[in-house]
Amino acid sequence: MADAKKIVNILLKKYPSPQTALNFKNPLELLVATILSAQCTDSRVNLVALRLFQKYKTAADFAQADLKEFEEEIKPTGFYRNKARAIINCCRMLCKEYDSVVPSTLDELVRLPGVGRKTANVILGSAFGRPAIAVDTHVLRVSNRLGLAHSKNPDKVEAELNQQIEQGKWTKVNHALILHGRETCGARRPKCGSCVIFEECKWPSKTEYA
Ligand code: SF4
Repeated sequence: MADAKKIVNILLKKYPSPQTALNFKNPLELLVATILSAQCTDSRVNLVALRLFQKYKTAADFAQADLKEFEEEIKPTGFYRNKARAIINCCRMLCKEYDSVVPSTLDELVRLPGVGRKTANVILGSAFGRPAIAVDTHVLRVSNRLGLAHSKNPDKVEAELNQQIEQGKWTKVNHALILHGRETCGARRPKCGSCVIFEECKWPSKTEYA
């Protein structure tokens, strides 16, 4: 059994103030940026979003966007047709049912088109300061390798992490796991030899010579 407390302490010592790499000024911008970030790097999303947020400032602006024009504007982020539809439909629902304001509960957020549990948790944790763990590919991989989770199902991994980690630290640990996954515990060649959590890691394939 992994020692969650020890792992959290080591991770938060390495990353004392971890934050999302997406740039945003309000919950709506983070919502749009998070939808754009699927299968795309955060730096590319930030570049696209910079121009986008100068043109579209409110949920109504996105809701009334011309689909073809909007697709072109977000094209560099990939999967632009689905993303364009998701953002426009999501903002239409915000206007129709939520007074154009991004809601701050999980149940309301997951009702929005294009918003799954992961995206909702990103918004809750980073835009509203509510404790939340968004299980992306990094969190899924790293927590399984460490022995904090034992599933490929993001919802189950979220539940396992929620159970073992102090609620007040959920969001910070979320970002720390992502940073650790990006910088050290990569999918293909994890740098186990220079990993600060090597001793605690339960991954059978870890090697200190990597
Ligand atoms: S020891 Fe290797 S597999 Fe384990 S967390 Fe560190 S980098 Fe990842």
